[in-house]
Amino acid sequence: MSEYIKFSCERVATEITLFGGLAELNAYRRKLLDLRLIGVDPNGIGFGNLSVRDDATDNFYITGSATGGIHELTLADCAKVVACDFERNRVRYEGSALPSSESLTHAAIYESDATAGAVIHCHDTQLWAAVLNEAPITSKAADYGTPEMANEIMQLFARANVPKIVVMAGHEAGILTFGKDLEEAFTILMREQQEFTPE
Ligand SMILES: [Zn+2]
Repeated sequence: MSEYIKFSCERVATEITLFGGLAELNAYRRKLLDLRLIGVDPNGIGFGNLSVRDDATDNFYITGSATGGIHELTLADCAKVVACDFERNRVRYEGSALPSSESLTHAAIYESDATAGAVIHCHDTQLWAAVLNEAPITSKAADYGTPEMANEIMQLFARANVPKIVVMAGHEAGILTFGKDLEEAFTILMREQQEFTPE
């Protein structure tokens, strides 16, 4: 696949204020790293990203681009997304890290579900294959980090209640879970794994 910038970012501030969820974010990242649901692929490319909503706004803190393999994130590895333009594929953000290229996908979930407070995007080939015919899926034609993916997510919510897991059919191994907080998003991921890929 060709390397190109899928979305454009505009930094509106270089610093983000310390957010209370950073310790919790790291705690769940450690669990996901241990389970190899986020990390670095054989080509050295980091995968997986987490985000947490900023209180009652549509803004959210998200792990920075290419931070999948970092064990413990600091504030400098995170970005705060403060505006999204889905049609133009643009993100405005604060912070020194570039927000994850899947920021628009996260944004689509926060916009669509007011109860969503945290989103996990991980890679799990087994679970992905197992739930392709079970969970809500985004179109095979929608690649990660594209406006099409964000649009697909919003369409899913417009059609039905989404049971807090979405399978990205056009992004192999790509799974999204979400919940009121990271604990719920993680619990849903573990429950799906147990149900669909019991060892
Ligand atoms: Zn991914």
